[in-house]
Amino acid sequence: VLQKLIKAEKLEVVSHLAASISHEVRNPLTVSRGFIQMLSGDIPPQTRKKYVDIALEELDRATEVINDYLTFAKPVPDQKELIHLPEQILHAIKVITPLANMNGVEVKHVIELEDEEFFVNGERKKFQQCLINLMKNGIESMTDNGQLQIRLTNTNTTIQIDIQDEGSGMTQEQITRLGEPYFTTKAKGTGLGMMVSFSIIKAMGGSINVSSELGKGTSFSIILPIVQTQRDQRKVSG
Ligand code: ADP
Ligand code: MG
Repeated sequence: VLQKLIKAEKLEVVSHLAASISHEVRNPLTVSRGFIQMLSGDIPPQTRKKYVDIALEELDRATEVINDYLTFAKPVPDQKELIHLPEQILHAIKVITPLANMNGVEVKHVIELEDEEFFVNGERKKFQQCLINLMKNGIESMTDNGQLQIRLTNTNTTIQIDIQDEGSGMTQEQITRLGEPYFTTKAKGTGLGMMVSFSIIKAMGGSINVSSELGKGTSFSIILPIVQTQRDQRKVSG
């Protein structure tokens, strides 16, 4: 199943999300605070352990929401720059490697670009967040020792980044719902990572395709327009 996945109607929702997401963070913090406060009372050791666990879990929850969403939500002015993709891929892999190791996942990458000097346009931090969100999903989809493969290729006008896992795959319904705020199939998921990723790639003038087979794995392809650099223009005019 190959699906093109830029969904404008869903992206409209994004701007109304900030308030609801700060609620998503504040809630677990409030719960956590409550349990820590109770710890100062006179309580049996077993209960104490339970309260600590709940407090930690709720703090982790808040961190997850922030991790999946924050770079995206940061109200900085639009600062587009030239982005060199091989560098960004290697950096994202470095960031995600501890999580991959923890899950017994091997991360491989292949860079097959016809020109070292291809660039795309966008905000580097947001683009990093998108890469990391997609890689994280790939890793989380694999339960036993899979491989996550990142591949960079180009056409005359575009660069394609494939992020392919050997994980659970998705049903048609799950594919359709990808990018919906809070859509998650994970016990501790935020359902924000895909929405954020779609928005970031859309802002870069690109698109994301997905092909997925249940029980076999999933491949996300980010397709971005190549920016004409001065050197290219010289090539054309010379
Ligand atoms: P979260 O990861 O917190 O659940 P996301 O927005 O990142 O939120 O992903 C939403 C849902 O999309 C996931 O819960 C999962 O069901 C599905 N999904 C995304 N990427 C993959 C993947 N690589 N393999 C299988 N399912 C995926
Ligand atoms: Mg995710």
